Amino acid sequence: MSNELIDRGLLLVVSSPSGAGKTTLCHRLMAEFTEVMFSVSYTTRPIRRGEKDGIDYHFVDSKTFDEMVHKGEFAEWANVHGNKYGTTVATVREALEGGRHVLFDIDYQGARQLKARFEREAVLVFVLPPSLEVLEERLRKRATDAPEAIERRLINAQEEFNVLKQYGLYQYLIVNDDLIRAYDKLRAIYMASLAAIDRMGRIAEELIRQTEGRQPTVNSSQSVDTDPSKR
Ligand code: ADP
Ligand code: 5GP
Repeated sequence: MSNELIDRGLLLVVSSPSGAGKTTLCHRLMAEFTEVMFSVSYTTRPIRRGEKDGIDYHFVDSKTFDEMVHKGEFAEWANVHGNKYGTTVATVREALEGGRHVLFDIDYQGARQLKARFEREAVLVFVLPPSLEVLEERLRKRATDAPEAIERRLINAQEEFNVLKQYGLYQYLIVNDDLIRAYDKLRAIYMASLAAIDRMGRIAEELIRQTEGRQPTVNSSQSVDTDPSKR
């Protein structure tokens, strides 16, 4: 299939309460589909053990972040769990214009902003834990946040669950109970989004354009005999 006809990339937005497993799922998708690039956000949150500046996030101080907001550098940004997070316009534009598919690990406030700006390209997926109990257990086992930060994330999770019914914003919901099954769903959503009719419509239009004005190649004075016994 000609890639020139699909001139704009897909913006695959994955959100979830912290600890539900979106990072794990997103890493799997990128490992399988190397054409999918990750949108590296800016954040004022302190760097965690094992994270790398410029790979997981661009870690900046609050003053730098505010200046970027002031200069209009963000396509979306939000306050999440007491820290600021944002995606730059440059990241989104580069991806869309280059026809790259981009994965965004951002919260519902950011998802809403991206959907409003890029209605056609944005595909919104929400990942849920099977229960609040499991969510808490995963956060504690992950052991990347202080106990107060975990408490805060659990309280915020309830607000995030409510968003699902409030805005009707997300197109897809994945319950991350069994990781293999959950990943299969994300994979299927990605594949189906690539084949969605509003993206493929351009290919159909091009085929129609190519056939327009085309004359039949068989001369009407020649008869076409379809009876094999006469050959
Ligand atoms: P998030 O990015 O949503 O905050 P993570 O991907 O970091 O969540 O997952 C939180 C923790 O739960 C990690 O330690 C991860 O290994 C684990 N985890 C993710 N999915 C599952 C699953 N289906 N079953 C068990 N543990 C999981
Ligand atoms: P964490 O601190 O655990 O990496 O992320 C906390 C939350 O911030 C997650 O829900 C994550 O999806 C969200 N987040 C990360 N980057 C961005 C961003 O650029 N914009 C928005 N709106 N949320 C983000």
